Amino acid sequence: MNLLEVRNLKTYFSTTKGMLKAVDDVSFRLESGQALGLVGESGCGKTTSALSIARLLPKEGRIEGGEIFLDGHDVLLDSESELRKRRWRDVSIIFQGAMNALNPVLTVGEQIAEAIVLHERLSKEEALKKSQELLDLVEIPRERYKRYPHEFSGGMKQRAMIAMALACDPKLIIGDEPTTALDVMIQAQILNLLERLRRERSMGMILITHDLSILGETCDHIAVMYAGKIVETGTVTDIFEHARHPYTDRLIRCFPNIHGKKAIPEGIEGYPPNLLDPPAGCRFHPRCEYAFDRCRVEEPVTRHVGGEHTVACHLVEETR
Ligand code: SF4
Repeated sequence: MNLLEVRNLKTYFSTTKGMLKAVDDVSFRLESGQALGLVGESGCGKTTSALSIARLLPKEGRIEGGEIFLDGHDVLLDSESELRKRRWRDVSIIFQGAMNALNPVLTVGEQIAEAIVLHERLSKEEALKKSQELLDLVEIPRERYKRYPHEFSGGMKQRAMIAMALACDPKLIIGDEPTTALDVMIQAQILNLLERLRRERSMGMILITHDLSILGETCDHIAVMYAGKIVETGTVTDIFEHARHPYTDRLIRCFPNIHGKKAIPEGIEGYPPNLLDPPAGCRFHPRCEYAFDRCRVEEPVTRHVGGEHTVACHLVEETR
């Protein structure tokens, strides 16, 4: 059974310049214990998709259509009080730069315990004990629970935030660029940690990143987003070895391949479109080297091209 099923999700933002369609008819699913990577350039709708799942949108944002089922429960039917009860237990998010959100005047243990007291109804003493166990879990010596955030390195702070996200044993954990502010060695440690915890606890995990290269080792499936839409999905092998969408192909070429020939990574010319007024047809057509007349007027439908691999591009014919 699917842990998460997102069907035809539309999340729009009301702005002074009009309606911004940040997520526009997006569908994906995830089974328990699986990891899905959501990848694409900034502003393509990755974070908005995550915030929609947790119903944590800012006041300008609205879910205009679609369905989100988490563990068989329709998330969009929850009242605000039901949502508060379910957050942290069903889904928790590690935000980009979350480590900077730690309160400098409270010890790390107190801050983790605060989340536990709020959601688990344990006494403060019990919660502090659990916070030490959680620090063990994220490979921070438990005696450091009495230390303040300024006594932690960047990597340790991010581990503490992961411990906090795990406080209520969530079924789904979402990492929104969880390693962006960290150097490459610490980044690898944090990703390995998340991977280990996901397997040990059979949690579902969504990892959001603009860096496709980090998903190969950590995810089972990848969904590539562009301009508010999913343009390609598949297993890690489908995406890395058999990418069919020109955007996915260009994203892959943006990162050096240590196993391939020496080559200077290529960028992608131009910028993602303004989602207040996206281009007609395929939204990638102004930047696509293969664009032809049909691409400028007709939006491509998502086609199955074998197994779990789907692509939305006119160049791709459906595999029957
Ligand atoms: Fe390029 Fe056309 Fe495919 Fe869009 S539909 S990715 S413009 S070839």
